[in-house]
Amino acid sequence: MLAGAASGWDRVITHPISGELLVVDRYRPSEHLKRHLRARDERCRFPGCGMPVRESDLDHTLDAAYGGPTEDGNLSALCRRHHVLKHHSPWKVKQLGGGLLEWTSPTGRVYFDQPPPRNTVTFVPSDAGSSDRDPSDAWAALAEEFGTPF
Ligand SMILES: [Zn+2]
Repeated sequence: MLAGAASGWDRVITHPISGELLVVDRYRPSEHLKRHLRARDERCRFPGCGMPVRESDLDHTLDAAYGGPTEDGNLSALCRRHHVLKHHSPWKVKQLGGGLLEWTSPTGRVYFDQPPPRNTVTFVPSDAGSSDRDPSDAWAALAEEFGTPF
């Protein structure tokens, strides 16, 4: 039996044309996915918050413990304050695709938060000391961004 000795499985989904890794079902996002999300979000994704992404956490919108996948459609940057708020208050958030977040306040008001617009080439800092910086990743991320409706 093929791979009969495997102790477990990771679901790995790649882009059918570029071969780019899109989803791996594990709790920890890959370095590539973290770079992609830092470039997409740039700041905390709570409406009106400007905390830079380098000072934010990557949050599973639907908690991994409840089956939320570790992929860009279920992750967003939240600063520590809004990360705590999301988990310990009646605020609710869901992802609508393309990085668009729908936040619902405790009183039922709905707010939408879009990632900053991408009109030109930008560079975002990678982790300090990271040696795997590859300019082609930035181009791949941009190509992906241009494919989204936002
Ligand atoms: Zn924030």
